[in-house]
Amino acid sequence: MTSPVYFWNLRASIKAPYAERIRRLLDRTHFAESIDGGELTAVKIHFGERGVTSHVQPLMLKPILDFLNKAGARPFLTDASTLYVGQRGEAVSHAMQAAMHGFDPLLLGAPVIIADGLKGASQQVLPVAGGKHYTEAFIAADIASADLFVSVNHAKGHELAGFGGALKNIGMGSASKQGKMQQHVTTGPMLMLDNCKGCGACAGMCASQALALADGLEGKGQKIQLDTSRCIGCGACFLACKHEGLVINWKTDVAAFLERMMEYAAAVLQPRAKPCLHINFVTNITPDCDCMGFSDACICPDVGILASLDPVAIDQASIDLINQAEPLWPSHLPKGLKAGDDKLRALRPHLPEHLGLDYAEALGLGTRRYELIAL
Ligand code: SF4
Ligand code: SF4
Repeated sequence: MTSPVYFWNLRASIKAPYAERIRRLLDRTHFAESIDGGELTAVKIHFGERGVTSHVQPLMLKPILDFLNKAGARPFLTDASTLYVGQRGEAVSHAMQAAMHGFDPLLLGAPVIIADGLKGASQQVLPVAGGKHYTEAFIAADIASADLFVSVNHAKGHELAGFGGALKNIGMGSASKQGKMQQHVTTGPMLMLDNCKGCGACAGMCASQALALADGLEGKGQKIQLDTSRCIGCGACFLACKHEGLVINWKTDVAAFLERMMEYAAAVLQPRAKPCLHINFVTNITPDCDCMGFSDACICPDVGILASLDPVAIDQASIDLINQAEPLWPSHLPKGLKAGDDKLRALRPHLPEHLGLDYAEALGLGTRRYELIAL
């Protein structure tokens, strides 16, 4: 059994320019048939960290929102807070970053709503069926409570996951701070005592009372201490520290990390009675994600835009199209690659073969077998 993935190769004409091609692409998915009228529809997107230029741009998004509005849905653009310190670590900075990148509600016909509240703590606990890591996951509340779910995804490389597409955007991107922390680390924050100024701000944020000041060694004044038995991994302390006294240990077993991320995607998608729509922009294919604060040179030419109701199939199709494309230099790609070589694993040879999609398939999120149907 295969899943259909609809594909537009970016060719356009005066009679059928961009917006018309997107409308045709989305029509083919029959997603509009699941809209009765008035459904609050989460459109999960990445607004791009400051300094990034390769994310999905507002004008590229507008025909998708027009399509949803015309079908009777009430879309809102959404994302959840990040763990790391940047422009998207809480809702005020995040919404301002979206505005600075041009995500204007009046232009687009959809407001920006940061789904996990002011400080990333507004969440729902959703069940995970069939997972080996979790039975429940912490999902941003306004994504969990939306009537319909659409993911708009920028397909590209990713420094940890190897590939960032629909499932990465859904699994990691829909998690609250606590959910992101749970996927990244299992041991709580890592203390950098040389950076700690002993201000106590992080201890004041910790509802679990896992942090407290204590006298430092050799008369170095007060330093923070962590009681790991109390830490629930909520991530609130990262936001409080302005001195990098607490950091995330990003080093992790990548295969297990991908499994945890896929289980979070399952928590978002499994409870939904109606189909979810996924749209992958296989364009501006950078080696790293849109969180990095810069956009490096692309590893291959733009490939196209894909739409499907199956997030596994659309990610597999996107990976295959990236790997089939001619490599581009100058870029971060190693020299000597040819069209057809695995670019994503050439960038990061330690990655597991199927980049976690086989596990997503085992969780019942979709199938890696797809039929690519060109417009
Ligand atoms: S870790 Fe940061 S927030 Fe906590 S006491 Fe030290 S400097 Fe202050
Ligand atoms: S992650 Fe949460 S529970 Fe753990 S120390 Fe930080 S604030 Fe406390």
